[in-house]
Amino acid sequence: MRLIGIATCMLAALIAAVILLLPEPEGFPILEYHQVTDKPLDPAFDVYNVPPAAFAEQLDYLQAEGYTTITLNDFMYAVRGYRKLPEKPIVLTFDDGYADNYSEMLPILEAHGMTAVIYVISNELGKAGYLTFDELKDMQRRGIEIGLHTADHLALTSLDEAARRRQVRESKILLEWSGLEAIGSLSYPNGAYNPEVEQLLREENYLTAVTGEAGLNTLETNPYELYRIHIRRPRFGLTEFKLRLFKATFFAKLRNIF
Ligand SMILES: [Zn+2]
Repeated sequence: MRLIGIATCMLAALIAAVILLLPEPEGFPILEYHQVTDKPLDPAFDVYNVPPAAFAEQLDYLQAEGYTTITLNDFMYAVRGYRKLPEKPIVLTFDDGYADNYSEMLPILEAHGMTAVIYVISNELGKAGYLTFDELKDMQRRGIEIGLHTADHLALTSLDEAARRRQVRESKILLEWSGLEAIGSLSYPNGAYNPEVEQLLREENYLTAVTGEAGLNTLETNPYELYRIHIRRPRFGLTEFKLRLFKATFFAKLRNIF
């Protein structure tokens, strides 16, 4: 038994070493944030809160590394050949549409001259702790892309066809009829998707969708299966953030092999 354990460890180390030696994969990362706040919330959700100071430090690092933030609209313009991507693109996304995305996150983002994509749950808008329509309009005016995280944050794969369609169609209509510009992107609640859900998004005029799977994205990546790296509340400062960025590269290498 012990020998098998040692052999397994050695094999895992060998595979990791081989992956590390592979050439740098192409593509850009998409980061997944939730809240930017110092406030301690429910400990179960605390991992989703990045403190403003840590967020600012992360943006400083991205800037120093030469990254340029783009939206997923920019990405689709590039896919269709209307626009070129910057040399080192990155997308910052924020799920669930929390109020602090406007009060805490936006000033830090703008101080860095950066942009982002915010995925809102349409039935939560205007409720305590969540963004309002006016804030969404203001952010859109300021170059932030607004996307949808469906009407009620239910896993789309667990719903029947009619309910699934209502979740993606009615939330989009609500936002667009409220005076927001066309919504082009969706974040899958709980990261749940399948070919039927992707087909539904095509029919309902969504152009892109982001998952919770790690990797890097290129102009050839399926736009309804974009890879994302989850950025949690850091326990080890900027080192942890760098490791999470590296995770995207690592998984992109893995995908290139298999
Ligand atoms: Zn969510």
